Amino acid sequence: ATPTSIMVGTGRAAELGVLFRKGQALQTLRNTKVVALDKTGTLTKGQPELTDLTVTAGFDKSQVLAQVAAVEQHSEHPIAQAIVAEAKAQQLNIIGPQAFKSLSGLGVCAEVGGQKVEVGADRYLVKLGYELSALSQQAEQLAQQGKSPLYAAIDGKLAAIIAVADPIKEGTPEAITALHQLGLKVAMITGDNKHTAQAIAKQLGIDEVVAEVMPNGKVAALKKLRKQYGAVAFVGDGINDAPALAEANVGLAIGTGTDIAIEAAEVVLMSGDLRAVPNALAISQATLRNIR
Ligand code: ADP
Ligand code: MG
Repeated sequence: ATPTSIMVGTGRAAELGVLFRKGQALQTLRNTKVVALDKTGTLTKGQPELTDLTVTAGFDKSQVLAQVAAVEQHSEHPIAQAIVAEAKAQQLNIIGPQAFKSLSGLGVCAEVGGQKVEVGADRYLVKLGYELSALSQQAEQLAQQGKSPLYAAIDGKLAAIIAVADPIKEGTPEAITALHQLGLKVAMITGDNKHTAQAIAKQLGIDEVVAEVMPNGKVAALKKLRKQYGAVAFVGDGINDAPALAEANVGLAIGTGTDIAIEAAEVVLMSGDLRAVPNALAISQATLRNIR
């Protein structure tokens, strides 16, 4: 491509809210075969709400929610914010926890009022030695509705199953349809439950799902997609997404996401609207067509 055609292309993209930090990316983007997207905060709003809370025998719903919220108030995860918001809405007393610990990609734990509280994904509680079969059928049902199931244990006993739901962003369904029309495959990479991820992918018509990925596993997932399909563009917003944004043939960060993700990306989508992704791809294809 000539410098002029690249300038025209990047200018046109900027008008549509797509910032090319390097003109080179406009050319690389054209070779994309598969677009992989992070789920939370990228395909979805990243603002989940608590939808379900079921306690096991001997536990009180409000008390469990207050204890779990006490732990989650120290976590940055969107799931944590959903739980704390619900406890506050119910005007529960959220006390300060002791010995708070956050295990990336798994969950959180702390002492609350002298009791050990552990909250997180099924794989976290399994790792801690809990038997989840009493609640696993319910977890699967919640996941099939696109909700993310979490487990809570209090003082060494399985206490509750909690579900949070994160609405799909406006523009996401149209963006995926447009990517398909451009002849691309679309994949989702997420740390979330596989049944939840599959339910959301099905709803959106996403071709490939890689779920229950640990934060350091996104790069491996991406390499696998590249082997299967060819050049990969990755779209993400979180700190966890930075290595995948750097590894992708082209990394596209959501401008409203974390600075670390933006710094790792070559392309920045100024708004969170994913329709910018097929727009950027269409511009890259058109730019290089014009100069042939
Ligand atoms: P994602 O951004 O795709 O949710 P993460 O690696 O951040 O991926 O988290 C993976 C999973 O770990 C979550 O879906 C959730 O089940 C669990 N988890 C992470 N942080 C928390 C938290 N603060 N509270 C409860 N569960 C959590
Ligand atoms: Mg995210």
